[in-house]
Amino acid sequence: MALHHLPDDIDPKATEDGRPDNTRLEELVHELLGQIGEDPQRDGLVNTPRRVATAWRDLTSGYDMSVDELLNDALFDVAYDEMVIVKDIEIFSLCEHHLLPFFGKMHIAYIPRNKVIGLSKVARVADMFARRLQVQERLTHQVAETIQKAVDPIGVGVVCEARHLCMMMRGVEKQHSATITSSMLGDFRDNPKTREEFLSLVGRRSNGV
Ligand code: ZN
Repeated sequence: MALHHLPDDIDPKATEDGRPDNTRLEELVHELLGQIGEDPQRDGLVNTPRRVATAWRDLTSGYDMSVDELLNDALFDVAYDEMVIVKDIEIFSLCEHHLLPFFGKMHIAYIPRNKVIGLSKVARVADMFARRLQVQERLTHQVAETIQKAVDPIGVGVVCEARHLCMMMRGVEKQHSATITSSMLGDFRDNPKTREEFLSLVGRRSNGV
């Protein structure tokens, strides 16, 4: 997996207490408020740069996480080769084109070869990639690839259904329509029966994805 590099002008150097230094980020939000015609000094906005900076650190905290750390000690040897499915994982991410949220559900399945991964960790993998600037297709694919690499299963299937505020708020998308993406690896890609089983278990017909 490629290491992420932060742009040069955003210095994430930590303060003495180990938290990131948000000074520059707060200045940028202050500037943004002015640029959209707001008065950054008015009562309701005085603390907004601080809040926004903190929120953005959190929403993009996936950059600071690594798969190795996340899955450390979470892999178990088993003799089990039935499909494992974690359904309805809530995801919240930010589209990299508009910096607006997209959100929805992810369903992740795999067929173990001789290792399984803690169920809560499956959701954490989704969260790690969601808390970065994303496009839904890449998010879906990164989750599948990561599980494939870490668990070395017979196959992995990931389906993501999400709604994008950048489309909904601007009226580009009908209010209730969702974008569906999928990534199928190994047996999920090569064996229509496996794929079919997964898709029907998550309430999707294969021709609908
Ligand atoms: Zn967008």
